[in-house]
Amino acid sequence: MEKKIALLRGDGIGPEIVDSAVRVLEAVAAKYGHKFTFTPYLIGGSAIDATGKPLPEETVAGCLVADSVLLGAVGGPKWDTLPGDLRPEKALLGIRAAMELFTNLRPAKLYPALKGECPLREDIVAAGFDIMIVRELTGGIYFGERGQRWGKYGEEAYDTECYSRMEIERIARVAFETARKRGKKLTSIDKANVLESSRLWRRIVHEMAEQYPDVACADMLVDNAAMQLVRNPAQFDVIVTSNMFGDILSDEASQITGSIGMLPSASLGDTARGLYEPIHGSAPDIAGQNKANPIATILSAAMMLLYSFDMATEAKAIIDAVDRVLAAGYRTADLAHGGDAVTTTEMTDLILKELK
Ligand code: NAD
Repeated sequence: MEKKIALLRGDGIGPEIVDSAVRVLEAVAAKYGHKFTFTPYLIGGSAIDATGKPLPEETVAGCLVADSVLLGAVGGPKWDTLPGDLRPEKALLGIRAAMELFTNLRPAKLYPALKGECPLREDIVAAGFDIMIVRELTGGIYFGERGQRWGKYGEEAYDTECYSRMEIERIARVAFETARKRGKKLTSIDKANVLESSRLWRRIVHEMAEQYPDVACADMLVDNAAMQLVRNPAQFDVIVTSNMFGDILSDEASQITGSIGMLPSASLGDTARGLYEPIHGSAPDIAGQNKANPIATILSAAMMLLYSFDMATEAKAIIDAVDRVLAAGYRTADLAHGGDAVTTTEMTDLILKELK
């Protein structure tokens, strides 16, 4: 297969970790007989420096003609004092909107070799966990009607949570299909005891569950879900939830893996084209020092192979290579706790060696 990949290296450690993922993708292409072409575009602070804008039109146009997009991270202290519209982070919302990405997939997996990183008690994580959070990304309260006004008690402000049948059906479909390819268990998280929008969400998920008899589907209230994630994370396979609940729960889930440098993500729309990025930021404190953990970005590239290019074998080859390198005891500085650490380049070389 031939695929065009847009590269948005961004700022801070972005260029280092994206280049590591490119080396891994090139090795996969060579091993499995594919051809990947990479085209870099500017985004974030580096785009502001070069063009005055965090998301130049050329970047959007390039992403829209690519088969998929790999992003490092944006932002840094240099641009922190700019007004909101000119901040590097603004580019993230802009590119997600331009690509019409309504699904955010965030896996939270505890690697057996990294159990010691998990902040939860040993007996709670003895069985490990491997959760996929499917978060709705373009609807709900973050995009609803909002405003400020004068009310009975003076100044007040409001935000509105609104979901349409179409928005709920399309995200639920992604979740059921994802569950079907994994452990066939779906937990739909809402606040249906209080919110009208959650009651519609729940009713539609139940309707759709009839089309997926092979997937065990259950509801859970969001407050209980926040508790269950730290009480017994192994009970979850796939979680589907709204934009705001997903924002909060996916951060909680990532923290119980204990390793921010390990976690990838995918944002998807109606087409095969997706945006793949690590969940961490641009880590300006270690930028340019060859210290960053490239694994979250390498695993984001693996997600691209699986979800955009339907290359399950190739994706698994990357994941297995990462597993083996960690099992052999190699750690970047973020996971080494002052002990022996490998550099970004060395970690990438180790993964490449396992891939070959
Ligand atoms: P951060 O994720 O960049 O860093 C938090 C801590 O984790 C730092 O100590 C950093 O060194 C460490 N870290 C992060 N990724 C690592 C990796 N791959 N390997 C080793 N260590 C890693 O979060 P922050 O410090 O709050 O934000 C820094 C900048 O990144 C800010 O400008 C912020 O706005 C931006 N940011 C961007 C994104 C994005 O591009 N998607 C997301 C979050 C934050």
